[in-house]
Amino acid sequence: MSEKRILTGEKIIVQVGKLNIGEGYPPIYMSGPCSVESKEQILETAHALKEIGVEVLRGGVFKPRTSPYAFQGLGIEGLEYLKEAGEAVGVPIVTELMDEGHMDVISEYADIIQIGSRNMFNYSLLKAVGSLDKPILLKRGMCATIEEWIMAAEYIAAYGNKNIILCERGIRSFDTYTRNTLDLAAVPIMQKETGLPIIVDPSHGTGVKELIAPMAKAALACGADGLMIEVHPNPSCALSDGHQSLTFQEYEKIRKAI
Ligand code: PEP
Ligand code: MN
Repeated sequence: MSEKRILTGEKIIVQVGKLNIGEGYPPIYMSGPCSVESKEQILETAHALKEIGVEVLRGGVFKPRTSPYAFQGLGIEGLEYLKEAGEAVGVPIVTELMDEGHMDVISEYADIIQIGSRNMFNYSLLKAVGSLDKPILLKRGMCATIEEWIMAAEYIAAYGNKNIILCERGIRSFDTYTRNTLDLAAVPIMQKETGLPIIVDPSHGTGVKELIAPMAKAALACGADGLMIEVHPNPSCALSDGHQSLTFQEYEKIRKAI
């Protein structure tokens, strides 16, 4: 690994409004639907999650979909709905930035900017968000080694932004039983190597509803600072990732258990 590093392992706490992310306990939950689908859907979700407990409301508006024919997200309109929902319940919002052309509008609306798994290797996008002072949620590339992930974070830091939250979301392995293979050893490794806060996404990490609760518990047991969990008012009708999205009741059960 390169000798020169800005992220040395010295502890970094990322502040988002009143939240201090990186303190371990209590965990930060970034929850909400895979995609913002309508104003009603995200408002209903925001109110329900606020009641149950949520620190950051998530919702994709520019969606990286495998098929060009699949729902691509509501774009700026969705961003407005997400913002309105976050404000209605008084919680910060996180959404994915896919294209540098949308960086200004997303940084105006969102409290945390997500760089998705598919863009962890997009070095020009990493440099671009490095020039912001917004918190960045950097998801692990689905085929990224630990070293590559560290260096992706280092890109953002090197261009001036150390407000980085890491997110372990599973990697592709030979095993296709689960959508991805959740690498929980990455949690203490990345904390030691970078000092950055790290959350775990068992929704994309497993793609299996029943595995979300046990993996959420395991993530917190090994020191994760929070969780990203997909929740939908009616998962069977979701426009993306319904199979791995929890109902409000299922989400509540997890929050009560850990
Ligand atoms: C997401 O969180 O909406 C998402 C697309 O996840 P990932 O980039 O980890 O696949
Ligand atoms: Mn999803």
